[in-house]
Amino acid sequence: MRADLHTHSRYSDGTQSPAELVAEAAAVGLGVLALTDHDTTRGWAEAAEAAQSAGVGLVRGMEVSCRWDGISVHILCYLHDPEGAEITHAVEQARDDRIIRSRLMVDRLSQDFPVTWEDVERVAGPDATIGRPHIADALVAVGVVADRTEAFGRLLTGGGPYYVALPVISPVDAIGMIHDAGGAAVFAHPLASARGRVVPEAGMRAIIAAGLDGLEVDHRDNPPAGRARLRTLAAERGLLVTGSSDYHGTGKPNQLGEHTTERSQLLALLDRTSGTAPLGITR
Ligand code: AMP
Ligand code: FE
Ligand code: FE
Ligand code: ZN
Repeated sequence: MRADLHTHSRYSDGTQSPAELVAEAAAVGLGVLALTDHDTTRGWAEAAEAAQSAGVGLVRGMEVSCRWDGISVHILCYLHDPEGAEITHAVEQARDDRIIRSRLMVDRLSQDFPVTWEDVERVAGPDATIGRPHIADALVAVGVVADRTEAFGRLLTGGGPYYVALPVISPVDAIGMIHDAGGAAVFAHPLASARGRVVPEAGMRAIIAAGLDGLEVDHRDNPPAGRARLRTLAAERGLLVTGSSDYHGTGKPNQLGEHTTERSQLLALLDRTSGTAPLGITR
């Protein structure tokens, strides 16, 4: 039973509906899928219905945007109970701030390129957590770049002239809020250096000390040499090890199921949660 624990739908920056994502998971032979849209649980209900009728196991999650000492960090949150939780308010705030920040980026871009905020709203649709991928899609739509990869490479990268940072919470606070809501917290793609600076060893230790449950080791953005170091760190600190595709539909080259999580690690992760039940996963 292969388990892919990190994917995105149209509720954030993926290109498929949750039902389409579940259907593709079944088609590629995944036994378990986690839906982890950025800063939202809006896709959960549709994913649950589709997973139950397709016979695919489902882990409901989300990917929480955080910042550590100026460095962007993503914390995967699994099976928390969103109802009335502090983490729910934090991600709602992040979604609001994402709109302000994206509008500022589009203002800057519009000085040099024929792109407007309306273009971004149109490509994103009404329910998505807005992010740079939607600005990329708008730049594609108006013919400035060919695809998201070119948009990030040329125009949207952190530290570039059009980039505006997103004000978000610390991973230490996020981990506490995730646990308060009965969820488990996994550090997503900890060594994704192609996206910008990564958290140094000392920061990693502080984040682990906050109660982190696991490290996403097998992910295409972690360089292979770094994965061995992460595995050692996980063994030393009693952390779970996960693997996943971070699939975004046609928005990124990542293929669904290209990395997966060992069954023992999945079951141990489930044991650490009490907020929302996993669906269709037999022990
Ligand atoms: P944001 O959260 O708005 O800063 O945007 C970051 C998101 O952009 C991440 O979730 C990635 O999935 C996506 N992203 C980063 N680099 C690329 C890239 N080169 N091509 C496509 N998407 C990317
Ligand atoms: Fe994304
Ligand atoms: Fe991420
Ligand atoms: Zn992701």
